[in-house]
Amino acid sequence: MKRFVIAIDGPAGAGKSTVAKLVAKKLGFLYVDTGAMYRALTLKAISENIPLTDEGRLIEMAKNTKIELQNNEMGYRVLLDGKDVSDAIRTEEVSKGTHFIASILPIREILWKIQRELRERYNIVMEGRDIGSKVFPDAQLKIFLDANVEERAKRRYLQLKQMGIEGDIKAIEKEIRERDEKDRDRSISPLIQHPDAFYIDTTGMTIEEVVEKIVSLYIS
Ligand code: C5P
Repeated sequence: MKRFVIAIDGPAGAGKSTVAKLVAKKLGFLYVDTGAMYRALTLKAISENIPLTDEGRLIEMAKNTKIELQNNEMGYRVLLDGKDVSDAIRTEEVSKGTHFIASILPIREILWKIQRELRERYNIVMEGRDIGSKVFPDAQLKIFLDANVEERAKRRYLQLKQMGIEGDIKAIEKEIRERDEKDRDRSISPLIQHPDAFYIDTTGMTIEEVVEKIVSLYIS
């Protein structure tokens, strides 16, 4: 029997991570943040001085990289070749660079394989841009989370602040707009809403309300 997948897609800062984590916890599912995988590869390329335009080297690098997403009492941790990079992948430099990595098909294929294999062992809440449209078009529940850009920038600002990173809200808003455009316009696996997905505009909703809405869709 196919394990249950809740696919949560949407633009940057729509609250996907916060909501997906809580839904996973409530239902006892595995939480998977696919954006962290693209971010981890971007961080590695930057740290190793591999130009983000050098597809050949980036693909080689991706083939030789181990990315682990751990859920334990320490919280949610992202390991890149065994090293904890959970905070290092959240910088603006990494955010701005991810679109290079995200538009390389062989790299996406490597990550899709890892993402799909998880379903063999776990019920999952997986969030990203192409989960409902590409990774699991047969996901039993698909959600498209959205919010207006001002609210999304504010949420990202607060999220960074919690991690001790002081951001500039206007710069974050600009970065979010640019990133959305790139994510929606790319030819490979763009951010789109699957026709089966439930659209939730979270502007003005509390986190609890969004979580409750998704859990009620799961139950019904
Ligand atoms: O979700 P997050 O903002 O951390 O994602 C960072 C970037 O990774 C996105 O802007 C997008 O370019 C890329 N990404 C993607 N496909 C996914 C998840 C993230 O292309 N499924």
